[in-house]
Amino acid sequence: ILQSGGLVAFPTETVYGLGADALHAQAAAKIYQAKGRPSDNPLIIHICCFEDIKKIVTHIPQAAVRLADAFWPGPLTMILPKSEAVPYETTGGMDTVAVRMPANRTALALIREGGGYIAAPSANTSGRPSPTLAEHVYEDLKGKVPLILDGGAVGIGIESTIIDLTEEAPLILRPGYISLDMLSGVIGEVHTDPGIAADRQNCRPKAPGMKYRHYAPKAAMFLVEGTRERVAAKINDLTRAAMRKGKKVGIIGTEETAGDYEQGYVVSIGSRQEEEEIAHNLYRILREFDESDVDIIYSECFETPRMGQAISNRMLKAAGHQVIEADESG
Ligand code: AMP
Ligand code: MG
Repeated sequence: ILQSGGLVAFPTETVYGLGADALHAQAAAKIYQAKGRPSDNPLIIHICCFEDIKKIVTHIPQAAVRLADAFWPGPLTMILPKSEAVPYETTGGMDTVAVRMPANRTALALIREGGGYIAAPSANTSGRPSPTLAEHVYEDLKGKVPLILDGGAVGIGIESTIIDLTEEAPLILRPGYISLDMLSGVIGEVHTDPGIAADRQNCRPKAPGMKYRHYAPKAAMFLVEGTRERVAAKINDLTRAAMRKGKKVGIIGTEETAGDYEQGYVVSIGSRQEEEEIAHNLYRILREFDESDVDIIYSECFETPRMGQAISNRMLKAAGHQVIEADESG
């Protein structure tokens, strides 16, 4: 299928991907069509061995070699200057290319058999939460892709960290499992794109895809920030008020706090002590809320030590940056 320019959905360690031959302009175009994705939102090229990178970039900086040594295969995407082998359809018209080697045996075998260069965004309909199960891919893309490889539940559950190595100083364009500290431990100074934390109206991030409202559940979602007791009290108040108006309310709490909620459809995202669990469960829970036709979601915030930036980035986007402060008086 890949060799003839078609689409295959496949598991990776981050989320499910929707793959096509990255060096085939029309094949990449099919990805945008199937996802309903804006064509200026570039794709990540997945490779299965480091040497293969030579064909698709014009220059391999030392930092790329070191990062690949440390984190590939794994959830790190690097932005490098693209070679002529890569069509602009794959890079959304940009002169740079995003490259990653996934840590998943099925993905690596598929890339190898499919010609070595597989462009793949997440295998969801544009704007929906990324798929962490093959069933999620099927929900979104049935009838639009000839093959979905089912590799069970993914390991990590949020998308790769993206680092831009074409700037003077390496710049994180999207936070992920690999944190800033892990990166700077290998290559020294690393910066974070200020656009990441900002509301998209105010600041345009450098990674083109970051300007779109990704990861969005159907319900209106609000993050409630503050100390544990205040957050629970605030969410209980908000839930009561919404239910009085006939709304169906979903609440995202944790193992430690789920018992604090009196009403609503309460789900635990995992233990506050286990950030990997929180990342792993987030998109599945958002999809479950979609299925149960929840109107409003109130969620706690999770400032976890290592992946906190990545988790809060995804949650802010899902919530369209609607944050309620529980500690404010009045
Ligand atoms: P997805 O495949 O949905 O996980 O998204 C891929 C993301 O990678 C895009 O939305 C961009 O934010 C980013 N990306 C891909 N290629 C480039 C590039 N050449 N320059 C900057 N960001 C890129
Ligand atoms: Mg995506």
